[in-house]
Parts: sequence; structure tokens; C-alpha cells
Amino acid sequence: MHPREQTIFALSSGRPPSAIAVVRVSGAQAGPALEHIAGMIPAARVAKRVMLRDSFGEVIDDAIVLWFRAPASATGEDVAEFHVHGGRAVLHALFAALSSIDNVRAAEPGEFTRRAFENGKIDLTEAEGLDDLIHADTDRQRRQAVRQLQGLLGDRAREWRRQLIEASALIEAGIDFADEGDVPDGLLEPAMAKIGRLRREIEKTLAASAQSERLRDGLTVAIAGPPNAGKSTLLNRLARRDAAIVSPYAGTTRDVIEVHLDLDGYPVMLIDTAGIRETEDPVEREGVRRAMERAAAADLVLWLADVDGDGTDPLLPIGEGSVPVWRVRNKVDLLGSESDETKSGQLEAKPGQEAATKYFRISAARGDGVDGLVAELASFAGDWFGSGEMAGITRLRHRNILREAAASLAKAEKLKGQADELAAEELRASSQLMGRLLGRVDIEDILDSLFKDFCIGK
Ligand code: GDP
Repeated sequence: MHPREQTIFALSSGRPPSAIAVVRVSGAQAGPALEHIAGMIPAARVAKRVMLRDSFGEVIDDAIVLWFRAPASATGEDVAEFHVHGGRAVLHALFAALSSIDNVRAAEPGEFTRRAFENGKIDLTEAEGLDDLIHADTDRQRRQAVRQLQGLLGDRAREWRRQLIEASALIEAGIDFADEGDVPDGLLEPAMAKIGRLRREIEKTLAASAQSERLRDGLTVAIAGPPNAGKSTLLNRLARRDAAIVSPYAGTTRDVIEVHLDLDGYPVMLIDTAGIRETEDPVEREGVRRAMERAAAADLVLWLADVDGDGTDPLLPIGEGSVPVWRVRNKVDLLGSESDETKSGQLEAKPGQEAATKYFRISAARGDGVDGLVAELASFAGDWFGSGEMAGITRLRHRNILREAAASLAKAEKLKGQADELAAEELRASSQLMGRLLGRVDIEDILDSLFKDFCIGK
């Protein structure tokens, strides 16, 4: 039997041991599997408590089972769910019992979703939304994934595609039947107006998409500066866990350490880079080179330096002004308590200092001024991600397809009146692109629409 026709099972809940574990079975053998292990098939969509047993009659667990008959299931196939106690031994016994049934096997990664897609339960953008949802770390990412899963981009693409097919049907009718007198005149104008509207709508969606992609990928903040400035200490404080090695010896953080943070729902990746300084040590020099590279590629750099330094920052060779750099003076706790210099917090830029740069004084070790820094970071993240949350383009794939479609439509607009066949060709191309966005391509749709809308009768 072809693997795709086999029945698959998998643990659908988290890593054992857990209080409850959900094992899903999808395919033609899901019903027989229930009969085999639970001794019965419950009414569809009604939870039933039963004793599960293996083929020797040994008890596996006291469990809840559910039955979803095809096509009214997540995958579109017959689906059985076993809700068992989430111990490894229970799962092991259940998997063994399932595997002993002919044509039942463990699922490959993503196979349930793939079947749902193949059975028309979800489109490609929804499958991508599901993938994002599973991997969402922060609340805002989750909300975006849910919107995508609800098919907002998919719905939009379907609607665009429908309109494109309609417009190309109009144009093709104009071309094919122009001399036969049974297609109304003046079809082209409304079709072209429609194309212009569509193109503008797609372009607007594209323009608003940068923030969705950003939300998916997160904001990268690099902590950079000379060795021993307290970069790892700050990272640890921000991450509230021991992700980087803090040591009193210069040059320990030779490579790059990443920590993922949730800042007000915004995903932020903090990277701790090797100390940046002139050095002869080839290993350290490589670390410095990487650190500068990573910092230059970041969206924001926190440049850390000792508060008791002489104030002239050594080396700030990052990105040549392309990345915003905030200057953070660390270790205020080391200063005496008399002068203003000991105050932590954000400082006003002095005359002559760049306005885009922010100045802070903190103690990474003691925590002074760190809350203020975090608040500024959260506000930077808010601006950077944009406040509006729109459904839609969360991947390069979406963007590329929509760009191509918009370009095709622009070409079609230019060709109108002079080369209608070429214009029609461009429309066909863009509706196929929409199909690709949804994961399906069906050229027959164009012909269907053509014949459905114009009772041509030939
Ligand atoms: P890195 O090389 O920049 O990552 O610096 P580390 O985080 O490893 O810190 C270097 C040394 O400075 C360690 O001994 C830290 O304990 C110390 N340190 C870091 N931040 C502070 C601070 O705010 N105050 C004081 N007194 N010491 C600090």
C-alpha cells in the first residue's frame, strides 16, 4: 500500500511525561484501530471513556476516545483520538498496539497537516499559519498566526483570484467571440477598471506587509562593546536566566550567544557578542570580526562601556551609521555616591550628540536603570513592528508571489487596447499566481467561468 494511503498515528500533545497525552490516528484503519484497542467505536464527536487493551488483552490505560468520521475531521480522513495518561510506558504500549495493526504506522512530521491540505481542508496559507501558530513564542505572534490560520490571506487571495478569473473571462470573451455578436460590447473597459483596482489593492497589501514579516522573525538587538564591559551580565539580567557565561576575565564570550525574549508581546532576539577590541590573538580576532558582523546586521545595537571609562568610546565601527546604536554606560555602582554621575537611567543627549542615539547609565550587576532600558526597548520594538496588526503576508513566499502578480497586472493595464491577447495572458499568469499562493493551480477555472458567465451556446 502506498505510504500516503496508510493510516498514520502520532502523539499530538507535548513531550511526555504529561498529565494527559493525545494520540491521533488518521486514515482508513482509524476505525478498526479503535475497535481493536478500545473494543468499540463511539458515536462521532462524543467523548467516551473506555479501557484500552492490547492484542493480548493486557490493559493499556483507562482513557477517553473520540471518533471523527471522514470527511468531517481535521485531516478529511477517518480520525480517532486517544486521550491517555501521558506516561512514557502508556504511550509506548499504545504505539505498540497501533503499530501491530496492518497498514498503520507512525506519522512523518507534518503529515497530518499535509493530509488536511491534500484533502482540501486547509489551503497553503492556512497550513503556513498552522506552522507559525505551533512555533509562536509571543502573544502577538500567536494572534497573527491565528488570523492567518483563519484564512484571512487565503480568503483575500481566493477573492482576488475569482476577480482575476472573471476579468480574464471578460477579456477572452472579447477576443474569442468579438466577431460573433453574442458577447456584449464594452466588456473590456470594466475588466480593465477591475484590474487596476486589484493591482492597487495588492500593492497596498504588500506595502503593509513588512510588519507582519517582522513580527514573524522578531527584532534583533545586539549587545556589543569592549571586553568586560558587562555584556553577558546585562544579557543575563535581561533574560533572567543564565544563558551566557559571566566571568571576570576579558574575552570569554568569543562566539555569539542568542536569547529570545518576549517584550510586551514583541519577539526580540538578544545577541551577546564577543568583546570588540584590537587584538593579536587570531581566535579572538575571528570572534571580534563575527561580533561586528552580527552587530551590523542587528536592528539595534546596545553599545556597552564602563561608566568609569574616559568617555571617549574606543571603536564603534558598527554598520557605519546604518544601525541605531544606543550608548549604555555600565557599572554605575562602582562610582562613589556623591556626584550626578552615579545616577542611573536614561540621559538627555548633550549638545552635539546624535538625537537618534539614546544614552543610558546602568548597573547590569545590581539592576539600576535596567527597567528603564527595558521600557525603552519595548517602546522601540513597538515602533519598529508598527502598531497595526494586519493579516496577511508573513513570508517571503507570499510577498514574492504578490509582487509578481502586481507586476503582471501592471503589464496587462499597459497592454490594454493594443494587445488584448497579451493582456489576457498576463491575467492568466496572475490568477495562476494566486492559485500558487493558495497551493492550488487550476487553469480549468478560467474556462469554467468563461462558459458559465456567457451563455455562449456553441
Ligand atoms: P562582557 O565581557 O562584556 O560580557 O562582561 P561580563 O558580563 O562578563 O562582565 C565582566 C565583569 O564585570 C564581571 O566580573 C562582572 O561581574 C562585572 N560586571 C558586570 N556588570 C557590572 C556592574 O554593573 N557593576 C559591577 N560592579 N560589575 C559588573
